[in-house]
Parts: sequence; C-alpha cells; structure tokens
Amino acid sequence: MKIAICPGSFDPVTKGHLDIIRRTANMFDKVIVVVMHNYHKPNSYFTADERVELLSRCTKDIENVTVDMHEGLLASYAKEKGAVAIVKGLRAVSDFDYEFQQALTNKKLSPEIETVFITANSDYMYLSSSVVKQVCEFGGDISDFVPAEVCDDIIQRIRERNSRI
Ligand code: ADP
Repeated sequence: MKIAICPGSFDPVTKGHLDIIRRTANMFDKVIVVVMHNYHKPNSYFTADERVELLSRCTKDIENVTVDMHEGLLASYAKEKGAVAIVKGLRAVSDFDYEFQQALTNKKLSPEIETVFITANSDYMYLSSSVVKQVCEFGGDISDFVPAEVCDDIIQRIRERNSRI
C-alpha cells in the first residue's frame, strides 16, 4: 500500500489545500493529512484540534484520507507511518526555495521517502491561509476561499479572536 503524507499548518484549511489533498488521494492508496503544530509557537488562529476537525469535516467524502496532528520532525513521522511520499503544493517561485530546502532536509533524514510537488490549481494560486485571515478580519467575503462546509465556523472563529484583541 502506497501511503502519502500531506503536511501543513492548515491555519485554516483553504480550497487550495483541499485541491492538493484530493489530487494526492487520486494518486496514492492512502493519504494522511497532518497538521504540524508547535507548542512553542502559539500564534496560530486555530488550535491544532480545531484545524484537525475542520480538515476532517471537509475530507470526509474522500475515502482514503485520514487527518492527524504531529509535533516534531516530519521526516520521523512519515517514516513511522510507512509513507513513501511527502506531497506538497507549489504555488509560485516564491514557495520554491523554502520547499526545496525542506525536501532536501527530509531526504537526508529519511532517504527512503520522496518529496513530490504538485503544481497549484490556477484557480487557487493566490490563495493562502494568511489571505483568508486578512480578508475575513476586514469583513471580506471568504466563501470563494474556503470549503463551504467549514466557511461559517472559520468566519465565526476569526471574528471571536478579533473581538478579544
Ligand atoms: P499556507 O499557510 O501557506 O496556506 P500550509 O503550511 O498550511 O500553507 O500549506 C500546506 C501545504 O499546502 C504546502 O505544501 C503548501 O505549499 C500547500 N498549499 C497551500 N496553499 C495552497 C494553494 N493555494 N494551492 C496549492 N498548494 C497550496
């Protein structure tokens, strides 16, 4: 069984993320979407549990996808799960330097695991979790940016956070 890992912060999940997850699910037997979190960096808008819940809700119709969270090295996690690939989405040249460095580091740590890059869907090339947060904070419509089944919860959560600060 060929297992792929789709890692990210998913703070929160966007339609761009979901597009990469679906396309990965078409290529591998099993996909583990993993929310990477770090207790020493508490600046995320959504807790790791919330991010897992939102992702689980919008991937529930994709049979071979499960959602998990991990704190620590991605290369060790992927090895422990028996994955053959780490799959990342590439939006633009600006993603490349960072992703290339990560891929080479992971290759060094776990040589048996390949990093696979999927080109972003042209509809979502501009999209990131930061864009979603910025637009929503200023009252803009994010329904084109995030999956419909989680849109209201994301809006509510970002507004709650804004009212606290
Ligand atoms: P971000 O905070 O930039 O949205 P994440 O760290 O959560 O990104 O991203 C997880 C993975 O999804 C990364 O491989 C990233 O390149 C990819 N990704 C994020 N947004 C998109 C998008 N709009 N299209 C394609 N891939 C994307």
